[in-house]
Amino acid sequence: MDPYADLRDGVRKLCARFPETYWRKLDEEEAYPEAFVEAMTEAGYLAALIPEEYGGAGLGVAEASVILEEIHRSGGNAAACHAQMYVMGTLLRHGSEEQKRRYLPAIARGELRLQAFGVTEPDAGSDTAAIRTSAVRRGDRYVIHGQKIWTSRALYSDLMLLVARTTPLEAVRRRTDGLSIFLVDLREAVGKGVTIRPIRTMINHHTCEVFFDGLEVPAENLIGEEGQGFRYLLDGLNAERILIAAECIGDGYWFIEKATQYAKERVVFGRPIGQNQGIQFPLAQAYAHVRAADLMRFEAARRFDAGLPCGPEANMAKLLAADASWEAANAALQTFGGFGFAREYDIERKFRETRLYQVAPVSTNLILAYIAHKVLGLPKSY
Ligand SMILES: Cc1cc2nc3c(=O)[nH]c(=O)nc-3n(C[C@H](O)[C@H](O)[C@H](O)COP(=O)(O)OP(=O)(O)OC[C@H]3O[C@@H](n4cnc5c(N)ncnc54)[C@H](O)[C@@H]3O)c2cc1C
Repeated sequence: MDPYADLRDGVRKLCARFPETYWRKLDEEEAYPEAFVEAMTEAGYLAALIPEEYGGAGLGVAEASVILEEIHRSGGNAAACHAQMYVMGTLLRHGSEEQKRRYLPAIARGELRLQAFGVTEPDAGSDTAAIRTSAVRRGDRYVIHGQKIWTSRALYSDLMLLVARTTPLEAVRRRTDGLSIFLVDLREAVGKGVTIRPIRTMINHHTCEVFFDGLEVPAENLIGEEGQGFRYLLDGLNAERILIAAECIGDGYWFIEKATQYAKERVVFGRPIGQNQGIQFPLAQAYAHVRAADLMRFEAARRFDAGLPCGPEANMAKLLAADASWEAANAALQTFGGFGFAREYDIERKFRETRLYQVAPVSTNLILAYIAHKVLGLPKSY
């Protein structure tokens, strides 16, 4: 018995209103899924992780991951809205009571969107401690200069969580000291020190460059303590890894279901192509890997929701799930043959979409480095 059967059923019903044709059209037009995000917000799914006392559903990461998995399993893509789930965790865990009361209920009601998270910079890449965007305190404000890249959904979000240096890298004892997290109200900031430029990409992801030129942020928008931002960031990453793993798992099941169905129906040389082991085995192998990743996802989520350390499990879930979805994508494309390249089957769209998880939000190499160093105790390689 699946403990999440009712939840799955509810999300599936909502997703059925947004079929593959909906996502295909958005992809072609590079448009934002407004109607879908609105429906998800209205149904309360995007407030899954907001505690009930702030107007949310008060669910755990396990449930949140099931919601995202089902979106991907339906042929859709949660990238337009998933960040709200994990970004607000930083506010929830490290924000002041006043910040929480001010923002969380409005986010839960759908009046405010907190969808943007600005960490990556062009010259720092995976090395977050090397970021240069600076926030300098001037009286009751911070003045921000610098640049972010790959800030997804910045054009569709009211609020952005921004990581900036409050102490220059040269002046800190440990490289990870001196980073701070701010809540930036983009509605006020654009045109007054913030410029946002979309980046065209191989997928419909609404990701942007964000330039800061003297943006003034009220000091009360600092989250937690100045200089502790790296620690807060790490805290939120485990939830992010688990939720992204769930999206990969949803993709993996979608590819395998589509390909299996097609392999049963497509007849070549007088028999269904699915009768050939050359078609069966890659699908069976990918399915086994998706299932294994699925179990690791729930183990990571169980530990996270119980307040136990879950860094290794969250990272392994993301690694295994991203590899499994990519393997399933390849097996599905091969099964569909030439038709896999035709847009009307959606395989090529999902193939492009699921490839992202090898790189973002954290690349496979960086997870392997984490496991080697933190779990196996091997020397740090970077
Ligand atoms: C579509 C999209 C959306 C994104 N959304 C966001 C967002 O909303 N917010 C945000 O802050 N960021 C976002 N990102 C950025 C994403 O997190 C980074 O792309 C990712 O962390 C990798 O950084 P990089 O692209 O600078 O690659 P780099 O750090 O330059 O790495 C390039 C390659 O080198 C490898 N590499 C680097 N160092 C090592 C090492 N020591 N050992 C082994 N291999 C290494 C990496 O694994 C990678 O394969 C997004 C990216 C994309 C493409």
